[in-house]
Amino acid sequence: MKSAQDYKDSIRAMKPVVYAFGEKVEQVCDHPTFAPTLNAIGLTYEMAKDTENETLMAVKSPFTGTMINRFLHICQSQEDLIQRGELGKFFTPYHGACIGARCAGTAALNALYATTHDIDKKNGTDYHERFVNFLKYAQNEDLVCSGAITDAKGDRSLSPGRQADPDVYLHVVEKQSDGIIVRGAKAHQSGAALANFALVAPTVNLKENEKQFAVAFAVPPNAQGIIHLAEAPAPNARRLHVQDEMDFGNFAYGVHGSTHMIFDDVFIPEEMVFMCGEYEFAGELAANFGHLQRLASACCKCGHCDLTCGAAAVAADYNGCEKMSHIRDKLVEISFQSALAYGSALASGYKGHRHASGVYIPDPLLVNAAKLQAVEAVWIAAKLAGEITGGIIDTAPTQKDFNNPHIARYVDKYFRGKNSVSTENRVRIARLVEYLIGQGSIIPTESSQGAGPSAVQRLVIRQSTNVNYLKRRAKEMAGIKE
Ligand SMILES: Cc1cc2nc3c(=O)[nH]c(=O)nc-3n(C[C@H](O)[C@H](O)[C@H](O)COP(=O)(O)OP(=O)(O)OC[C@H]3O[C@@H](n4cnc5c(N)ncnc54)[C@H](O)[C@@H]3O)c2cc1C
Repeated sequence: MKSAQDYKDSIRAMKPVVYAFGEKVEQVCDHPTFAPTLNAIGLTYEMAKDTENETLMAVKSPFTGTMINRFLHICQSQEDLIQRGELGKFFTPYHGACIGARCAGTAALNALYATTHDIDKKNGTDYHERFVNFLKYAQNEDLVCSGAITDAKGDRSLSPGRQADPDVYLHVVEKQSDGIIVRGAKAHQSGAALANFALVAPTVNLKENEKQFAVAFAVPPNAQGIIHLAEAPAPNARRLHVQDEMDFGNFAYGVHGSTHMIFDDVFIPEEMVFMCGEYEFAGELAANFGHLQRLASACCKCGHCDLTCGAAAVAADYNGCEKMSHIRDKLVEISFQSALAYGSALASGYKGHRHASGVYIPDPLLVNAAKLQAVEAVWIAAKLAGEITGGIIDTAPTQKDFNNPHIARYVDKYFRGKNSVSTENRVRIARLVEYLIGQGSIIPTESSQGAGPSAVQRLVIRQSTNVNYLKRRAKEMAGIKE
């Protein structure tokens, strides 16, 4: 497996076309709103490297016969699904941000493995073989693959084929003897400019007259015609102007690093195309991606809750409040909400089913419930951690205030909590809470929208709940004879 430096060097060499805050980014690796995400993804290498035995981070690939990073693994069992979930919860407290490029990529790899198998079985095509060749390459080279599913979507009430501008859903504009040309955009792509490849697939069910939108492929983010437009949440702007590490709760990793990925007539060589026109498989592909990504996302959010619980507990310690019953109750509530989500997520793996291709998919009811509960837990944890930490989240002084001789003594004296704790440490933990609860980060919105909004999980839960059966049980018990 590669080192974090190997990974960073590979991205440095790619030089994708990226714009942030209206300006062209010459080198993403050095840019203040991308470098933290690069560090977070780099951690996935650091923590998996030199592993001889299987761990949460590393696993033996049945395709290459070698140890690979678990983010590139095709789930071969229910145990693999469970470990994928455990990985998210374990790993997130180390970076407190997002390694989305690797995370969504795992779901895309697994979903494409299943769907290419199904298409070939029906149509006699060779997508699965092509895909497995790509998979082996990605595993051997230890590549970061982002998962590019969400389209720009235009008018949300209209299907792809009925949009005023067809480009709001990515589609094929031309077929050539050795490949295809695609146009459109994939929206909110986590770490897409920091990946070695994007795995692109449809986001919705498609009809026969929408064949051109049924397209899946792998493409490097620096391919000719791809333009990345960087996210610009408010805290990113702060990073452009301030480099004082203490003023950021999570200076090293705390940026999401997503881009809107524009495909302005991009050529995709035939060997990288995994679906082209098979509209009847688009829904299955999007659904399986959703189930797999929600397992990862639910568990990652539990990791965020755990970190928030830890940060709030430190803040309570520093305030001298650690033994107060309402503080303890609030910490217990954060842990309880996180555990509810985590339990459902692991259960979705335990109850996962084997797809005909051999890949395992989490139980749809349990995994959607887990994602829904994880988002709830993030909001509850944010509220409670804010309550525990106090007004210092809003009013903490900056590193420059600490350094200014005219005011430093007031800062030290009047922002202090417990006398045995330095004021600097009290401010540092307040900044981390500020970051974790979404006052200055994208965590709440990313949690509720990443891997699909809550309405989608409610829909799948509705579809997965056998109400007729439950009604029969109830009527029988009540002695109702119709
Ligand atoms: C930080 C971040 C990172 C992400 N990373 C990735 C990634 O790596 N890869 C990827 O593919 N995607 C990614 N996503 C995209 C994510 O999956 C979408 O944000 C999500 O699917 C919602 O799409 P949208 O943001 O376009 O919301 P919208 O479609 O604009 O939805 C807004 C609201 O309208 C509702 N709505 C929209 N359309 C309908 C409809 N037809 N019927 C009923 N209600 C509707 C939604 O439920 C929601 O409540 C990311 C998102 C975020 C915020």
